[in-house]
Amino acid sequence: DPFTKNKIIDIINDTIALCSARMQENNVEIMIEGNFNDLEIDCRPSQISQVLLNLLSNAQHALSNLTENKWIKISLTVEEEFIQIKIIDNGVGISENIANKIFQPFFTTKEIGVGTGLGLSISRGIIKDHGGDLFLDRKEKNTVFVVVLPKIQITK
Ligand code: ADP
Ligand code: MG
Repeated sequence: DPFTKNKIIDIINDTIALCSARMQENNVEIMIEGNFNDLEIDCRPSQISQVLLNLLSNAQHALSNLTENKWIKISLTVEEEFIQIKIIDNGVGISENIANKIFQPFFTTKEIGVGTGLGLSISRGIIKDHGGDLFLDRKEKNTVFVVVLPKIQITK
């Protein structure tokens, strides 16, 4: 999967298509916010999709104990040189005492066989390879993962 120019909205829609059946089964509503239009970024699309799928799947898991009003918001903001994709959920949340551990390889709060604890560490690696960053931004009620990506890949 080489670096190519890709419409970010295509990557997001392709990723949602991969998990929409599971989201519907679990009554999770996915909302997209922001002006994606024709915005293109230079990236490895299948890797970005893998990252988004990881984040969506974590969010869905975090919502599993809620009985109603389960949602995941994907919000896009565009700066001059970077784009920011936020994956926001209103699920169980991430307590202060584990917030600094979740990006460690093999850290998981899930039962054996459910989680490998590798999703976030691999995802962060992919985003860093793209010259971007992936971090957690805890809000009072919502969990916010922020993916920052440069619009144009600078060859290393
Ligand atoms: P895994 O999903 O296999 O546990 P990850 O690296 O994807 O591994 O996530 C590590 C841990 O981070 C999870 O076990 C969970 O405790 C926490 N986590 C990640 N995303 C969320 C989220 N959206 N809401 C609550 N906790 C989360
Ligand atoms: Mg995961």
